[in-house]
Amino acid sequence: MTKNNDNLLEKVVSLCKRRGFVFPGSEIYGGLAGFWDYGPLGVELKNNIKKMWWQDMVYQRDDVVGLDAAIIMNPEVWESSGHTKSLVDPLVECKICHKRIRADQEDKLKEHEGEHKEKVEWTEPKTFNLLTEVYLGVTEPKEKTYLRGEITQGVFVNFANVVSSSRVKIPFGIAQIGKAFRNEITPGNFTFRSREFEQMELEYFVKPEEKEAEKVFDYWKNQRLNWYKNLGIRAENLRFRKHADNELAHYARMAEDIEYNSPFGWKEFEGIHHRGDWDLSRHNLKYRDMETNTEYTPWVIETSGGVDRAALFFLLDAYYEDESRVVLKLHPKLAPNQAAIFPLVANKPELVKKAKEVYDDLRKEFRVAWDDRGNIGKRYYSQDEIGTPFCITFDFDSLEDKKVTIRYRDTMEQERVKIEELQPFLDKKLK
Ligand code: ATP
Repeated sequence: MTKNNDNLLEKVVSLCKRRGFVFPGSEIYGGLAGFWDYGPLGVELKNNIKKMWWQDMVYQRDDVVGLDAAIIMNPEVWESSGHTKSLVDPLVECKICHKRIRADQEDKLKEHEGEHKEKVEWTEPKTFNLLTEVYLGVTEPKEKTYLRGEITQGVFVNFANVVSSSRVKIPFGIAQIGKAFRNEITPGNFTFRSREFEQMELEYFVKPEEKEAEKVFDYWKNQRLNWYKNLGIRAENLRFRKHADNELAHYARMAEDIEYNSPFGWKEFEGIHHRGDWDLSRHNLKYRDMETNTEYTPWVIETSGGVDRAALFFLLDAYYEDESRVVLKLHPKLAPNQAAIFPLVANKPELVKKAKEVYDDLRKEFRVAWDDRGNIGKRYYSQDEIGTPFCITFDFDSLEDKKVTIRYRDTMEQERVKIEELQPFLDKKLK
């Protein structure tokens, strides 16, 4: 099967809607730009991405602990961190229809210019703050604060709490997954740029020494690229891009993006940032090294990825089609269903009963789907399209020989396996 990338984004968007991965947010009221809802399969895919990230970034390491901070924080956090001033994008306005677009998105500007017959003139770029304001309390004026524009600050404001309550010692990391909100000027390219999205981030604290920090920066950059590769993203679709000095975020001393070769160009997948002591010093936080009895402000190397971008890029990378079928070649650990169980026919109670027993047994350990509709060919088609790596059919022979047929999604090869060996088989492939 070769990969045909014609209209790839449109095909994936349509598959997501049709099969229940992603729906436009508040669709029955006309939607809301930049907001998306994940359906029954999408939530599984996203959960699997988060689970794998947590597994590799927290559970498999001795030097990283987790955190789940509040979305809404004291507004002073955002003053201190610099976001009220510096989480900005340049905005221009079309002088004909007053539509506002991000000035550094040339494709969007061109697209808009094509919508008018006359020549479009733009206003001078203005800075536009992306923080989303919220108002709290019952007395007027209500207290103004913000939905977090990055999940990072929740880690920094808890730095002292984590150090004093756990046994971490520098170098160590704090990992977090959670929602962030940005009032993006031009959300678009499906979920790629949303106004509500999830981030998975590691803040890794090191001694304030440039050589050490750069070593850790390189280490994490390669770890993160390999993480995506190991979960199936093709190497040729990934690359690093170093930020030029004039594009560095306000907090960054050095930054490199992992980019993905998407249908809309090479785009940021995840950012690796050397934040220096920007945040901890802004929040007046220090670290006491008990062994040397010294106090200093640690530096931070950050890996900041988007869960929604990961879900989108995993889907785009996994999408294959030929005349006979559409297949999502998702890594088995990411696929929404890890296996599907079919009784060969639905109208033989004895066969259905036994097949159900296999299903009930496996569902205790794995995410398995049951399908007894239509014929086997249609069921394979349906499971291939959502990326189920293994389809298991219980047929008439199964009643006698206690074996079932496993059919592999990618090769379509089939194998006869003893029912009692199913669990070890799936354990090996999925755990
Ligand atoms: P961009 O330049 O694309 O606006 P950024 O450099 O501001 O992105 P970061 O602040 O580095 O992005 O955010 C870290 C990660 O969070 C990004 O790599 C991306 O995966 C995710 N992310 C950021 N903004 C969005 C968004 N609007 N929608 C979805 N994911 C996002």
